[in-house]
Amino acid sequence: MTKSSYIPQNTDQFYINGRWQLPAQATMVAVINPATEEVVAEVAQGSSRDVDHAVAAARAAMPGWAATSVADRARILGKLHELILEHQEALAQVLSLEMGAAISFARSMQVPLAAEHVRVARDVLATYAFQKIENGTAIVREPIGVCGLITPWNWPLYQITAKVAPAIAAGCTVVLKPSELSPLSALLFAQLVHDAGLPAGVFNLVNGGGAEVGAAMAAHPDIDMISITGSNRAGALVAQAAAPTVKRVTQELGGKSPNVFLPDADFAKAVPPGVMSALRNVGQSCSAPTRMIVPRNRLAEVEALAAATANAIIVGDPRSEDTVLGPIANEAQFKRVQAMIEAGLAQGAKLICGGPGRVDGFAKGFYTRPTVFSQVDNGMRIAQEEIFGPVLCIIPYDTLEEAVAIANDTVYGLGAHVQGQDLDQARAVAARIRAGQVLLNYPTWNPMAPFGGYKRSGNGREYGVQGFEEYLEIKAIVGFE
Ligand code: NAD
Repeated sequence: MTKSSYIPQNTDQFYINGRWQLPAQATMVAVINPATEEVVAEVAQGSSRDVDHAVAAARAAMPGWAATSVADRARILGKLHELILEHQEALAQVLSLEMGAAISFARSMQVPLAAEHVRVARDVLATYAFQKIENGTAIVREPIGVCGLITPWNWPLYQITAKVAPAIAAGCTVVLKPSELSPLSALLFAQLVHDAGLPAGVFNLVNGGGAEVGAAMAAHPDIDMISITGSNRAGALVAQAAAPTVKRVTQELGGKSPNVFLPDADFAKAVPPGVMSALRNVGQSCSAPTRMIVPRNRLAEVEALAAATANAIIVGDPRSEDTVLGPIANEAQFKRVQAMIEAGLAQGAKLICGGPGRVDGFAKGFYTRPTVFSQVDNGMRIAQEEIFGPVLCIIPYDTLEEAVAIANDTVYGLGAHVQGQDLDQARAVAARIRAGQVLLNYPTWNPMAPFGGYKRSGNGREYGVQGFEEYLEIKAIVGFE
């Protein structure tokens, strides 16, 4: 095992009740660097006993934390934000080791965007009106209670801060279970939470698998709410396990987001960022716009632009500053992506770039060729199933009606893009797309914009005010005045 100096020391422990502790029963599981396929660390996996322990700590801390002042909570969140920025290099390095993020991408996106969720939670908290009086009735918002937070491996730190920060800002206490495939950044984060001065029991971390630790959290009678980001399979299992205890369940699940090019779009300008948005983070983003829906009479031009963009992407060693895309994050995902590329070929999509197999020159590491299919029929598997890899589908349309119908012809409804110079027309199309977030002409990222899914992409919202409110219950005190 080659051990990087960035690997946290306490991989055999969990953070429960304000201190690092050994699990009830130790089972160590390897974390594999997807760039080398080597073991970089071994991390303890928990069980339902560790969940019980962490939930008891969170439950005990709940009344005290809920009673803290807004100013105190905001101060701690401000400190946590500062600490994440101070330790951003270590966090970026660990993210790169555990899931293969190109180091430049980890530094410029994965870590700073994660920090933004903490800043936003602090700012939302600072001005939030927890009580309003309407016609003599007080409408009071109170923390929902103990929250179980379950996160995936694709944007590991970002998904963690998107849940932990608003939950503790709202006055809730939490038990976090990060992905078993990317637990290292979570361990570093837990230490920063500790250093920020959060009282014991407010934040707890238990590592482990979904079927053991995640399922125990979902079913736990002393957890009031579960927020999960992950696959539809896991989201549905969590909802089922949570049902008998009638806890709130929010789910951020899969996507198959469309990118609709209206006839008046500036194709030369808009196709390259469309390709990059689909492929960034090696396509492992739930809202990646992986279906580029374009007028049929512009198809040849779009194909040329898309192929040129994808062919120019530097795929390689994530430690190199020049690398744009590192490997796929793990072996299982690599195999799934390869199978989907084969499915695209088998169903007759036109391959214009990339294809099956590893990137040339790599015998090891889950390096996947940026792949673009054209003349894709929206009924094909590559257009219907979430691939979660660097695979873009170009789908032609003849009429605007058809473009909108294709955009909506999916079980998902997470993100969507519209390109067009006539903003009124772009807005009109946005209004007809059933997705939780529609981006017009690639705007800059807005961490206040609520994010979440229509249809099978989930329930509930994250980020900004709406993400914060997920962690609040509503109490009406009638006769208040
Ligand atoms: P996954 O479903 O395999 O795992 C996600 C998390 O759920 C992990 O922590 C896992 O241990 C846990 N889990 C698995 N089975 C569970 C169970 N039975 N009970 C409780 N917890 C369980 O997903 P993944 O492969 O880590 O992530 C990729 C998926 O996440 C993709 O489908 C992607 O679209 C989705 N995703 C969605 C968003 C979003 O905001 N909508 C963001 C990122 C990823």
